[in-house]
Amino acid sequence: MKCSFCKKEIEKGKGKMFVKTDGKIFYFCSNKCDKNMLKLKRKPAKIRWAAKKKKVSKK
Ligand SMILES: [Zn+2]
Repeated sequence: MKCSFCKKEIEKGKGKMFVKTDGKIFYFCSNKCDKNMLKLKRKPAKIRWAAKKKKVSKK
């Protein structure tokens, strides 16, 4: 499954699941994603660490 916020793959047994009262299910890879999605209601596209995969610079 994938993180509902940053779209990162979540390993089995890791991350957490959240079921909203309307039946929607969210998966989060970390508390950071959980907080951003549910409390701050941020859009992933507006957050650098969540949208950084678009342009990856090689080191
Ligand atoms: Zn995430």
